[in-house]
Amino acid sequence: MAALRRPVYERNQREVLPDLKIKDITAFPIRVPREDEDAKNADAAKNGAAARNETAEGKLSHRPPVIDFGDYFVDAETFTSIYSKHHETTVIKVETDTGIVGWGEAQSPVSPGTTGSIIENLVRPLILGRDPFDIEAIWTRNYGAMRERGHPTGFYVDAIGGTDIALWDIVGKATGKPVHKLAGGRYRDRIKLYVGIGGIDPEKVADIAEEHVGYGYQALKLHLLLDADGVAEIARAVRKRVGPGVMLMCDVHMRQSVASAIKLGRELEKLDFAWLESPLVPDDIPGAAALADALDMAVAIGEWNRTRYEMREAFERRAFDIVMHDIARTGITEGHRIGTIADTYNIPVAPHVGGGGILSVAATVEYSASCSNFMIMEHSHHANEYKNAITAEYFGPSNGYFEVTGKPGLGIEIDQSLVEKYQVS
Ligand SMILES: [Mg+2]
Repeated sequence: MAALRRPVYERNQREVLPDLKIKDITAFPIRVPREDEDAKNADAAKNGAAARNETAEGKLSHRPPVIDFGDYFVDAETFTSIYSKHHETTVIKVETDTGIVGWGEAQSPVSPGTTGSIIENLVRPLILGRDPFDIEAIWTRNYGAMRERGHPTGFYVDAIGGTDIALWDIVGKATGKPVHKLAGGRYRDRIKLYVGIGGIDPEKVADIAEEHVGYGYQALKLHLLLDADGVAEIARAVRKRVGPGVMLMCDVHMRQSVASAIKLGRELEKLDFAWLESPLVPDDIPGAAALADALDMAVAIGEWNRTRYEMREAFERRAFDIVMHDIARTGITEGHRIGTIADTYNIPVAPHVGGGGILSVAATVEYSASCSNFMIMEHSHHANEYKNAITAEYFGPSNGYFEVTGKPGLGIEIDQSLVEKYQVS
């Protein structure tokens, strides 16, 4: 009876987790070739679907001309973004002294070895011996370590963001809780998705739109790499085909001027598009503010930003209406900070998931579940098959939604032998 009279906090002391220590961190830069028959068949088997016959060359035929560098290519006219023909990213494994292992991902759509090298040479010595529960402190100190060196974004911040995701996975596994329960709590039981599609021929894009509505998605985003008139023509064809009930968005990948984006936006407003995405180059904050002011429809930007510092001016000038930061660039910790600032400005969050792999997808689901002002999450229906090349069990949505589970950590299981199979230097 004496034990029962002790204060509650004393009685509970036995149940307090011991401190953990980070024992090791390993980066796995990976490349999953689109032509990899093994990956396609294995993923199709996990997914219970037939293997698809998608190739790198097939991907290039659906876009304007490119300059081909072998594994990489870039738009020949605008030279906007370099892409890989394959699925490339950097998977991160963090081990603790108790045997608990966390997995994370630093999005690396090109040159994943660069991110891997930063983790090995910089992040590793900075975090060895730390308690993984010190997540926010670790991100903040990692960020601060390279401030004066002029690396406030890019590969370095991707590396610390991916590490942050692995630490959240550890903390979830150590406590037996899903990440969203620890990172703000569960705001919703399922995560609404939109899928990205694209092309250059109006009727073919409308066919693809119809195909994806058939998979159960009620929201589609068109990646359209044309001039304003070309974009509007495809947008009209897709709206006509899918009808008024499907949510449509349009991403023009920084290819417009303020004037052409205003012209395009006014066309998209008539077609009831939910947002115009990435109309201008990221540097043009004054242009973005003028555009957001000129249009009635929402403008969405932010996939290229990794920190709240980078976004401050755009927030202050209200240069956009929807923020779409990418969790495999920000990490979950800084992603939540950006989401909270957005909430302060009454701006919804639509997380970007582009070149990121399956850990990026899982981390974004957990983030979205715990984000108060979440709107909708990006998804790629067919790329999800390639992304699952490293999972033990297929991780995917059904009928346009990810269910929010109660599984500990990020809720997915990575097969290290598969990660090693696709590892590149
Ligand atoms: Mg985009």
